[in-house]
Amino acid sequence: MKRGDFEAVGQPEWDRIKVRLRKEFGDSAFASWVKPISLDGIENGEVALSVPTRFMRDWIVTHYGERIRALWNTENPAVRRVSVKVAVTGGAAQARSPETARPIMPTPPSPGVRPPPTEAPGSEFSAPLDPRYTFENFVVGKPNEFAYAAAKRVAESDVVSFNPLFLYGGVGLGKTHLMHAIAHEIRSRRPQRRVIYMSAEKFMYSFVRALRNQDTVSFKEHFRSVDVLMIDDVQFISGKDSTQEEFFHTFNALVDQGRQIVLSADKSPSNLEEIGDRLRSRLASGLVADLHPTTFELRLGILDAKADQLGVPVPPKVREFLAHKIASNVRELEGALTRLAAHSQLIGADITLEAAQGLLADLLRAHDRRLSMEEIQKRVAEHFKIRMSDMSSARRARAVARPRQVAMYLAKHLTSRSLPEIGRAFGGRDHTTVMHAVRKIEEICKADPVFAEDVELLTRMLES
Ligand code: ADP
Ligand code: MG
Repeated sequence: MKRGDFEAVGQPEWDRIKVRLRKEFGDSAFASWVKPISLDGIENGEVALSVPTRFMRDWIVTHYGERIRALWNTENPAVRRVSVKVAVTGGAAQARSPETARPIMPTPPSPGVRPPPTEAPGSEFSAPLDPRYTFENFVVGKPNEFAYAAAKRVAESDVVSFNPLFLYGGVGLGKTHLMHAIAHEIRSRRPQRRVIYMSAEKFMYSFVRALRNQDTVSFKEHFRSVDVLMIDDVQFISGKDSTQEEFFHTFNALVDQGRQIVLSADKSPSNLEEIGDRLRSRLASGLVADLHPTTFELRLGILDAKADQLGVPVPPKVREFLAHKIASNVRELEGALTRLAAHSQLIGADITLEAAQGLLADLLRAHDRRLSMEEIQKRVAEHFKIRMSDMSSARRARAVARPRQVAMYLAKHLTSRSLPEIGRAFGGRDHTTVMHAVRKIEEICKADPVFAEDVELLTRMLES
């Protein structure tokens, strides 16, 4: 889609940026979104890009815009702005409105963060927030209502209510979304408050760098003068002793000063094995709120909301199909919907069930593969320390019967197999036996929180 025979100014840089984007976002996102972008040129510090449709332009600006701008800026510090416009191709009558070009604005300095002496505001410490990750865009259902309410409370109240707020849950269940939502809310309510949001990896990296530059004093000061410190994915702090130690001290100092801390992890504090006892019990000392695996209803709700946002009609049958098939995490669910939407926009075809099955074949296959019955049986057997063969044996002793029921329950919830199919995989049992197992496990989970946690742990393990 390059214009004419000449190469646009900045083409080599753009080629390098594309290589980076491909690495960062993966082949399929690259093929759908980055590849169709063409470079028109650079003028007065503004890079002009164009894409074939308005939909693509909006998508690229919201999802990749900031990253593209940042990469341009690294390639060429003179670049201040990047704009994406809809290319008017010969023949095809593209509606051309005066505002077809949408600029990607540089990230505005976060109002709450005082710039450190030599750095641009926020560039060193606080990571950029995704503007889409707001409370309004978060779909609330049974599995996440508690975490949502806790996050909202922390964001809205002027006094420190729970400290720390510790959010945990499996991959793609909305931890990062909720953290950004808290930050957005605080920054808009009380712009003078200093909010730092960063990944645990970044925290470690900054700390290690400060150590190397023998500048830990200003590092500490920086953190100890924030009002709200949010650290995402603290499971990555595991292992590094000095960093843990530093984190622990920073943490204590902030809590003592009545500052709010919000943390997330993929496990509960008690399950963060590599974190030292002292830090672990400190992490658990506030409010621990978990995001449970999604239910069918929640997934459907999320799909409804996202389909609305995308503005593409997705028939209820297709939504149900997706909600049923892509149960593991919301990110994948979104990815599937996006792919369907992009396809329908680019090809101009309706989204049908058949189209969905075809377009998502790879995703659905991967999903089915991941959740094979054998794998469920194997994991459960390992967990309860029974033999794999007991999954299909006739033994009825509680010590093997219960784990077997758990495995059936998980097979029912995590795969799309029918009850008779599940029964067959468990030594040719009847579908009523499976049904009974499912009910039984539900009952026990309600009555016994420890057992419920076991089941949930297994669910998470199998889904990740
Ligand atoms: P995590 O940090 O737990 O791995 P994220 O917060 O990154 O997960 O969520 C993955 C994606 O799913 C994000 O795009 C997020 O907006 C979306 N998402 C997760 N839960 C919800 C929800 N309840 N409502 C709307 N979007 C959600
Ligand atoms: Mg996350």
